[in-house]
Formats: sequence, structure tokens, C-alpha cells
Amino acid sequence: MSQLTRLRLRLTPRAESAVVRGHPWVYQDAVKDQNRPGLPGELAVIYDRRDRFLALGFYDPDSPIRVRVFQVRKPVQVGVDLWIERVRQARALRETCAVFASGTSGGRWINGESDGLPGLVADRYDTTLVVKLYIPGWLPVLEDISSALSQELRPRFLMIRLSRNLAAIARDHWGITEGFRGDPGEDTVIFEESGLRFESQVRLGQKTGFFLDQRENRRRVEAMAMGRDVLNVFSYSGGFSVYAARGGARSVTDLDISAHALESAQRNLKLNASHPAVHSALHHALQADAFQWLRDSPAAQYSLAVLDPPSLAPREANRIAALDGYARLAAGGIRVLRRGGILVSASCSSHVSDQEFFDSVRRAAQQSGRSWLESWTSGHAPDHPASFPEASYLKAICLQLDP
Ligand code: SAH
Repeated sequence: MSQLTRLRLRLTPRAESAVVRGHPWVYQDAVKDQNRPGLPGELAVIYDRRDRFLALGFYDPDSPIRVRVFQVRKPVQVGVDLWIERVRQARALRETCAVFASGTSGGRWINGESDGLPGLVADRYDTTLVVKLYIPGWLPVLEDISSALSQELRPRFLMIRLSRNLAAIARDHWGITEGFRGDPGEDTVIFEESGLRFESQVRLGQKTGFFLDQRENRRRVEAMAMGRDVLNVFSYSGGFSVYAARGGARSVTDLDISAHALESAQRNLKLNASHPAVHSALHHALQADAFQWLRDSPAAQYSLAVLDPPSLAPREANRIAALDGYARLAAGGIRVLRRGGILVSASCSSHVSDQEFFDSVRRAAQQSGRSWLESWTSGHAPDHPASFPEASYLKAICLQLDP
């Protein structure tokens, strides 16, 4: 790569203004011309229509998002010092937010583009930092970014994970595979969230091992759980159930299609058995397809239902089908709720807007024929900042039935 001249691009006027305004994504059809074909992961310099420096980013010929911009207007030296500065800024933001108050040793310290480090997520679980890479740009500079993260966040162990589309190219072009760098840590790490203990499967678990993004919603569910029979649909490792149990739920039921997820949920409840309320809550596990189960099981069995499915719209093309899916889930959730039940429904699809999602849940409530009241809606937690519209994916809504 080093013998090649620097990759230079020019954009359409519209894309140019978007980049100036801070949007970090340049789509393939926004590239007006370039001096040569680009390689996966190399640096691209974007010039404006008057040939002045506009931006720097990572190029990827295999993605419709051709460039992920990390620097606009002012040229910088790309290297460890720049990454240190970005990590320092991200750390400053986390250090001032209350989510990391006492009893919480897990959280997101780097949230990709929104922290000026596109396609890179870093989640901390106690002394282990799990770095997940989503774009090839980080592969050639892995030493630099790892050392910046280590210097600034001082983890004891550093785990590197790769998104599925990166595994082959990382191995073949850069000899990079997933795993601990430096000292080997544990594949399953125990950490604390709101004074509760959880395991994160940092090597093999989904995302970086745990869904840190739902922390605030789990706290909301805990506050509403007293005396209730809670159904946790798409439970994964049972986060919502453990909080509900501490909040005084009479019973918690985890429902997931995966046996591994249900086993992890069971272990997480055990980890918190020293809390009397967790110890005394009844626990059930259901391994089932949620859509089918919510449709076919008897009505009116629970008094609080949480619905937190995986993204139903991984692509824009799935948006309409996803809205239908959210509505069907909400209808099913409402059906299995007894009089006075509470529904908490979440969506992690960035292609579905907050309003569209909320409306699909509200419509399902309307169509159930029951009366209902909207208690709250929520968005991103402060450690998951979203600096541009596409970065915003998580939203949740809570309805109180038969108020
Ligand atoms: N609520 C969880 C995160 C959910 S992740 C938390 O707070 O940690 C999505 C989960 O849905 C995964 O565990 C996955 O196994 C499960 N899943 C995916 N499709 C499913 C289906 N059709 N029925 C039931 N569970 C499903």
C-alpha cells in the first residue's frame, strides 16, 4: 500500500455539505471522482470543489458506505496521538455521566463514529476491555489504536473482536485474528451493573458479550416490577429479569430461542442470589420462538412483559416488514398480559424511526380494544452517544394497560 500515491476523492456537492455539517458517512454514489481505485482499509483524503482539504476517512470498496470520515476541515497527522486524543475525549464524556456511579463496572467507552472513531466500539467489563471492529480501516493501524486505548483506559486485559464480514480479510491481509492481545484474560468476565453482577461472554457472546445499551431501561423495569409476574421475551442473558427480581417481582420468566442464552440467564440470577428479593423470585425459562409463542400461548398470564427483539430491519428494505413484526409482537405481548399489565417494548433497528416504532406499538394497543396509557419512552443512554441520525438505533416505549 505504501508505494501507492495517497487516495484522493471528490464528492457530489450534496455529500460535500453533509460532510462539512459533520455527517461521517460517504456513500458510494456520492464519490464524484477519485485518483485511483482504493483498497480496503486505506486512508482517503477528500478535497472540496475548490481543491481544498475537506476530510480524512477510512476507505472501503466493499461497503456501500465508501468512506467513514473521522476528521473534517483541519488536516491532522494520523497516528497514535490522534487516537489518544479521541479516546481522551470519549473518556471525559463518560467520566462526567452518572451511569458510571458506584456499583457499575461495565459500560461503553467508545461508540464508533459518535466518538470520532468510526466503526470501532469499546465496551468495558470490569478490567477487561472488549474492542469490536466493524470496518477494515482499523486493521492496518491496530497496534496504534490498541496502544491508545490501553494508555487511556488502562484495562488489565484487551480482547479484540471482529465483525463477521472482517474475519477473512483480517486474517488473509493482516494476519489478525480475534482474541486477547497481551495477557490472556477470561472468556467469561463477571462485572457489576447498578450493584448487580452479570457475566459477559467476551469471546463468544453476541456483540461484545452483553447488551450494555439497555441498562437504563432495565433500571426502569426494576422500578415497576414489585409484585409482578414478569415475562422477559428475547431475554438473552436475562438482564431485565435480574433487575425485575431485585425490584420485587413475584416471578421472572426468560423466553429465548437459544438454550445458551437461557443458561446464561440462569447463571446471572444465581450470581445475584445474595439479594433476598432475587433469591425469593420464582424463575422459569422457556425455549421457544417468541413470535409463535406470543401468538399461541394462553392469554392473561403475566403482569409485566418486556419485548427486546434483535433488529427486525437489518436493512432499509426490511423496514415495512419490521414495523409489522413490532406490531405483531406488541399485540402478542398485550394478549398475554393480565388486567393492569405493563408492556415495555424496544427496537434496536436504526432503519425504523422512533416515531414509526412507537406508533406501531400504540396501534397494537389500540387494536387490542383495551384502554391504555403511555408511561414513558426512552432513547440512548449517555455512554451510547449518537452524533448523527443513522447512529441512533435504540428506543423503547412503556404502556400501562387498563389504567
Ligand atoms: N434483552 C436482551 C438482549 C436481546 S438480544 C438483554 O437485555 O440483554 C436478542 C435475543 O433474541 C437473543 O438472545 C436471541 O437468541 C433471541 N432471539 C432471536 N430470535 C428469536 C426468536 N424468534 N424467538 C425467541 N428469541 C429469539
